[in-house]
Amino acid sequence: MSGHFNKLALVGIGLIGSSIALAARRQGLVGTIAIATRRPETLAEARDLGLGDLYTLDAAEAVRGADLVILCAPVGAYDALARQIAPALAPGAILSDVGSVKAHVVKVVGPHVPPGVHFIPGHPIAGTEHSGPSAGFAELFAGRWCVLTPGPDVPQDATARLVAFWQAMGSMVECMGAGHHDRVLAITSHIPHLIAYNIVGTVADLEADTQSEVIKFSASGFRDFTRIAASDPVMWRDVFLTNRDAVLEMLGRFNEDLSALQRAVRTGDGPALEALFTRTRAIRRSIISAGQETAAPDFGRPHEPAPAPAADLVRDHGGGDDA
Ligand code: NAP
Repeated sequence: MSGHFNKLALVGIGLIGSSIALAARRQGLVGTIAIATRRPETLAEARDLGLGDLYTLDAAEAVRGADLVILCAPVGAYDALARQIAPALAPGAILSDVGSVKAHVVKVVGPHVPPGVHFIPGHPIAGTEHSGPSAGFAELFAGRWCVLTPGPDVPQDATARLVAFWQAMGSMVECMGAGHHDRVLAITSHIPHLIAYNIVGTVADLEADTQSEVIKFSASGFRDFTRIAASDPVMWRDVFLTNRDAVLEMLGRFNEDLSALQRAVRTGDGPALEALFTRTRAIRRSIISAGQETAAPDFGRPHEPAPAPAADLVRDHGGGDDA
């Protein structure tokens, strides 16, 4: 089944929308690309980057005559956007999205989809902590999963076309129910982000002198949380507002496990700690063998050559080592 479309409309042109524009163009998957966004500055940036063929601040104008429409805005904007574009959607078009939650998208967009338009929500499990049109790159989806959640009424050939589109951009595609997607992503993505926001927030509230030490010695673990906690605030606000039930369910389990860990630390239960840390190490290894992470040390960061030893780099802070 061909993943080619005559006109692709991207409603929202940040990291994900611009990456789709670049990847679809590079792979020759689309004739025309129409781009709509909310602010004139973002539209001008997209135009300067040459991401599309048609640029507009009117989402309905962008989707007119498109055979593939992808919503690429924060999910909190979907209800208003769906109302706006619905009358302009062409019969036979595929309407999809890239939102990080799916049941909410089905709930707010579904009722506006006109008969004859095939609504296939989607979520590329790929991203970075950067936002905006210049953050995108054509390789973003290569080797990454894309989840599609077509409803029971969607014809199989429409789903097959969208699967072929994502595969041609380098993704592996899996179809599942929207609710199942939200539970899986709550634990693999949403809770990790909540933990990162929380730990970085805790540091932000620490006394000024401790805070400077935390930043100085951040390579001991903290820094990797800060990358996640630098993710787009609006996008993540919307994720937690719209996937509340699944997040709270997984957070309940997380809190139970954290209490068990707290108890193991308090009672000095070495075997329990070691058993858990051995299991978690195995999970990281399985992620690497699945090709979803590199085995390079320190998350693949290049290392500078070691500088000559300097006496004043070694100071006693009176607090033991950083392990
Ligand atoms: P982004 O870089 O911040 O870009 C967001 C785009 O949506 C911009 O074009 C912005 O327009 C537009 N937008 C924002 N608020 C809007 C509103 N109220 N009405 C209409 N348009 C609005 O975001 P992104 O990272 O590409 O994320 C877009 C979607 O992809 C989100 O639903 C997110 O859940 C999903 N996603 C993100 C990632 C990730 O890692 N970032 C990964 C997978 C999926 P203006 O600039 O013109 O305001």
